[in-house]
Amino acid sequence: MTSVSVRVPAKVNLQLSVGPIRDDGYHDLVNVFHAVSLFDEVTAAPAAGLEVSVEAAPHSRVAIGGVPTDGGNLAARAARLVAGRLGVEPGVALRIRKAIPVAGGMAGGSADAAAALVACARLWDDRDRPVLTRDDLLELGAELGSDVPFALLGGTAIGVGRGERLTPALSRGTFHWVFATADGGLSTPAVYAECDRLREAGERPAAWPRVSEDLMTALATGDAKTLGAALVNDLQPAALALRPSLRRTLATGRDLGAVGAVVSGSGPTCAFLVANEEHAADLAADLDGAGVAEQIVVAAGPVPGATVL
Ligand code: ATP
Repeated sequence: MTSVSVRVPAKVNLQLSVGPIRDDGYHDLVNVFHAVSLFDEVTAAPAAGLEVSVEAAPHSRVAIGGVPTDGGNLAARAARLVAGRLGVEPGVALRIRKAIPVAGGMAGGSADAAAALVACARLWDDRDRPVLTRDDLLELGAELGSDVPFALLGGTAIGVGRGERLTPALSRGTFHWVFATADGGLSTPAVYAECDRLREAGERPAAWPRVSEDLMTALATGDAKTLGAALVNDLQPAALALRPSLRRTLATGRDLGAVGAVVSGSGPTCAFLVANEEHAADLAADLDGAGVAEQIVVAAGPVPGATVL
């Protein structure tokens, strides 16, 4: 086989509820992940050793400066994990084309890891070896990070634990989104630390996280306005504290008619839900004109997870 290309979506969290900090330093989470049509592409080709190259996808203005091109890249770690499981040398050149913002709260690194798991498993698929099943890949994904299994699965799913134990959520129709990316990322650990600090300072103990029934009802009915009102992100106050300019971005999107406005995951990308495709194009143009974001991207969800092209 010469090469395998895999397309993988970004995610937005429809619900991100953060429980008390656990003894192992992680938080118990309730996450409702939603895969949207903003894709990275990872191509795996045979090579003497493990090589990584990273570029911005055509027409995308993703700043790829912070993405490692050594063994620290999550896609490279995924390749080594697959090679180890199959008992082969990790001889592969991984070419990553990024359209998902880096450190943007849309799980771009996890997406690339999921794509590399699928691409390498296919590249090294050989009749002499047992093939890796979807469950094997989900298990390897969970070893790499709590957002990786969802990037394999896609759609809309509820994640509990650290976010990695997934159940598909019942959802009707397509939702239309506009994403406003920011110049410079936010570190996920720094946002969790700020969330803990704000809670301690406010002496408000974290509640045990539970799946939002309002959100599940909104998804099942497919009504964007109801979904917009039910979006939850417990990390949003921390992201706003670390990046106060996001307040204006969110307010501008709301003023311009978004039916939902929320920081995506740990930020700094802001996600705006709109009623339909036409509204998405209008809001994108208006947000662009308002100058509150680095780049405006229109997308729809749910879409499938990592897919071989
Ligand atoms: P999440 O939403 O899961 O918290 P994020 O979208 O905020 O993640 P990522 O884009 O996944 O953040 O990247 C976070 C950091 O991971 C980057 O700053 C970079 O140093 C590192 N990294 C490793 N591999 C990759 C990759 N393939 N793509 C992007 N970043 C990567």
